[in-house]
Amino acid sequence: MVSEASEDGFWDLDLVTEELFYNVNLAKVLGISIENAKTYIYNLENYAHPEDMVLLTKTIDQITLGKRDTFSVEYRTCSVSGKYRWILAKGKVLKNSNGEPIRISGFHIDIENRKIQEEQIKTLAYFDNTTKLPNRAMFYEIMKNTLKCAREEQQQGFVLYMDIDNFKIINDTFGHEFGDIILGRVANRLKTLENIPKRVFRLSGDEFIIILPKYSEQNTKEIANKVQDIMIKPFIVDENEIQISMSIGLALYPNDATSADELLRKADLAMYKAKEFGKNQYQLYETSFDDEITDRLLLENHLRNALHRGEFVLNYQPQIDTLTENIIGFEALIRWFSPEYGFVSPMVFIPIAEEMGLINKIGEWILKDACEFSLKINKRYKQDIIISINISPIQLNQDNFIDIVQRVIETTGVDTKLIGIEITETSLMTNFEDNSKKLEQLRELGITIALDDFGTGYSSLNYLMMLPIHIIKIDRSFIVNMIHVEKGINIIESIINLAHSMGLRVVAEGVELAEQLDVLKHLKCDQIQGYIFGKPISEQDTMKYIEHKMAQTL
Ligand code: C2E
Ligand code: CA
Ligand code: CA
Repeated sequence: MVSEASEDGFWDLDLVTEELFYNVNLAKVLGISIENAKTYIYNLENYAHPEDMVLLTKTIDQITLGKRDTFSVEYRTCSVSGKYRWILAKGKVLKNSNGEPIRISGFHIDIENRKIQEEQIKTLAYFDNTTKLPNRAMFYEIMKNTLKCAREEQQQGFVLYMDIDNFKIINDTFGHEFGDIILGRVANRLKTLENIPKRVFRLSGDEFIIILPKYSEQNTKEIANKVQDIMIKPFIVDENEIQISMSIGLALYPNDATSADELLRKADLAMYKAKEFGKNQYQLYETSFDDEITDRLLLENHLRNALHRGEFVLNYQPQIDTLTENIIGFEALIRWFSPEYGFVSPMVFIPIAEEMGLINKIGEWILKDACEFSLKINKRYKQDIIISINISPIQLNQDNFIDIVQRVIETTGVDTKLIGIEITETSLMTNFEDNSKKLEQLRELGITIALDDFGTGYSSLNYLMMLPIHIIKIDRSFIVNMIHVEKGINIIESIINLAHSMGLRVVAEGVELAEQLDVLKHLKCDQIQGYIFGKPISEQDTMKYIEHKMAQTL
């Protein structure tokens, strides 16, 4: 009576006698005739969806082997109409005293409606509200299938990974709501691309992706061009005209990647290269991009450990008085001797250390080591030799930079008159007010301040006049050009005259030739730094250099 009253399909199978009991609703739930319901269980493979057969067979095997006492399986079954519907089969196994299964009872429940609801929830989870585009989760689902098809059919295709250039500026200037409107408009334009509206996804923020199955490289590039074309026209929002461009990375599947994750990563990498090459362009993924990344990661790892492993040393390059040829001081230049890479140029690792934020710790070490050296040689030789220390813009921008300098001065006991710092113009420009204040404080401490690489940055004279500096270092490129380039000498002459009129001293960097030295002497350049007087050398050799000079002047 209970089974007749229920809407679910009940059944009870005696495994010994093969006798089967079932209620009328079983046929209804399975969507087949009563006669067929009788033999359903023996012909499961004729009804169940092939994709679900694996799970069903596994469950049945476990039951017959006595490994399971209960079961609960969701699967699709084919009804008379030929349509698949979702049902749930649940039941229990009865065993004899030997542990062999002798009887199974269970029921089938129609779960088609529940599955439809689940599907709807999925749709919600799979679409992005801002752009009404399918989202990253959906991309992964579709990409998985696309990759599978590509493998089975031995086809190839591309993904197009798009990122709006400088989108952060739009967000920061006009606010996030405004940014969202732009994203919606960008999505709408992407939807107008022929044949592919269903294959555009929003990955996150300002990143979009298009899957192009069975596309050739040529056709993919055409799409990339089209994407750039449809973005050219400015977006007009609240009387604001917004011009955007996109950087696009292209990756080929299955060649470049066999999983959605890998493919994304490679297309992303190609997109970054497109940005690096100047934005508003597309770039095809190349394996060398990966090597660059791994190389870079490796180098970062070694760099991270270099300081506490004691792999850095400071070298010193003489700065010489042009007239007397006496030593004015030395510039401290860092050297990295890595056990893994050998000598690595500071031109290579300083920018990386800056990006990683490591430069602050390294810079503090440089400061301390250089101050100790200044103390040591000045105590020993009593010559008033100034040690000049390069300060990275990142270091200078730290809130507590002055505190750090003061602490080093106190702990080392160095005479501040015998240390100097070198700062590039460009680094000062980013935070001009704050940085000038800091320089002012350093000057008050008695530290000599030099503007490094003069001529390569803004070279704005107005700004220069406001800066509390003592020295201008003319960049090596001017010294190199001095002889070969017409007017090369005139440029240097005006820099020197201008600096002198402002009461600043001038150092010429990278002087290698006697010819250059002669001209600089003639132009009354105050100091010379360059191979002509000496390359950067170790502490030990620096002391020998000083001793040698002292012996000469005696
Ligand atoms: P910089 O501050 O302009 O240093 C001068 C560079 O020119 C040094 O290269 C020096 O060896 C080189 N040089 C000097 N005279 C000559 C010459 O006659 N001919 C030629 N061809 N080159 C000459 P280095 O040591 O490779 O340093 C390169 C850059 O790395 C430096 O440029 C500086 O920006 C940075 N750097 C080096 N040491 C440090 C440091 O301790 N801290 C920071 N923050 N940056 C450093
Ligand atoms: Ca320097
Ligand atoms: Ca320089």
